[in-house]
Amino acid sequence: MDGGSLLVKTGVAAARLPGRVGRTLLETLYPPLCLNCEAAVADADALCASCFRQFRAITPPYCPRLGIPFQIALGPDALSAEAIADPPPFDRSRSAVVYNEVARGLVSRLKYGDRPELARFCGRLMANAGAELWGAEPVLVPVPLHPFRAIARRYNQSLELARVIGRLTGLKVDPQLVGRVKRTRQQVGLSAEARTRNVAGAFRAHPEALARTLGRPVVIVDDVITTGSTVKAVTRALHKAGIERVDVISFARVVVGHEDGSSGLVAGIDVTI
Ligand SMILES: [Zn+2]
Repeated sequence: MDGGSLLVKTGVAAARLPGRVGRTLLETLYPPLCLNCEAAVADADALCASCFRQFRAITPPYCPRLGIPFQIALGPDALSAEAIADPPPFDRSRSAVVYNEVARGLVSRLKYGDRPELARFCGRLMANAGAELWGAEPVLVPVPLHPFRAIARRYNQSLELARVIGRLTGLKVDPQLVGRVKRTRQQVGLSAEARTRNVAGAFRAHPEALARTLGRPVVIVDDVITTGSTVKAVTRALHKAGIERVDVISFARVVVGHEDGSSGLVAGIDVTI
C-alpha cells in the first residue's frame, strides 16, 4: 500500500481517550477492520490492501466543469463531451473516487448503516478532492433529505460528509439553507430523464439565503453523483435565491466505462469534440 496508505487513513484518532494509550486500549478491544469488507487491518478507518487496490481516486487530468477523469491531459480548458453537450448550471464539480464496487459498498453502508467512521473516511478524501474549491471560503450545503425520509433514516449522509469537510477546512456548514419541499422517489433505477423530472422543483433555498451566505459561493455536498440531476436541481434553487456561484463536491461519481472496479483509471468517454 505504501503511498496509498496515506490516502486511505483518515488521520482521525480512534477515540477521545488520551493519546496513544487510549488508542491502543480501543484497538485491543476492537481490532480495526477494513471499512469495506471487515478484514483485519493495521490502522483504524482504513481499507484493506485488497479493497484499496480496487479503489479509483479521481486525480488530474479531468474535466474542469464536471470533474470527469480524462485518459490524457487535454489542456486546462478542455471540457468533457458531457459538459459540452449538456452544460451544468453549477460552475465546477469535483469527486473523490470513481463509483465502482468498493465505492458502492462504502456509500451504501454510510447511507443505511449509521456508521460515522465512514463519513470521516469519505469526508477526508472529499476535502482533498475539492481543494481548489475551498479558497473562496464557500458555505457547505448538504443535499437535504425529505423530512419524512430523514426521520426514517435518522441520518443524512450528505450532512455527515459536509460536517467532516467543514471540520477539516474550517468552512461553515449550513444544512438549512436548502430544503426539500417535494417528496421524491428514490433516484435509483430511474432513467436520466426520469431523474430530472423526479427532482424538478423538489428543492427550495431559504428566503434569507443571500443574507446567510454573505455573498460567498456555495458548495453542494452529495455522496454520489450519477447523472447529476439532484445537484443540478439544488443549484437551480440556489440560483433562484440569488446565489450565483455554486460548485459541487461528491464522494463518488459514476464514470461511463468504469462500472467495473478492476479496470484502470481510464475514462471510457469520448473527449475528441
Ligand atoms: Zn477490505
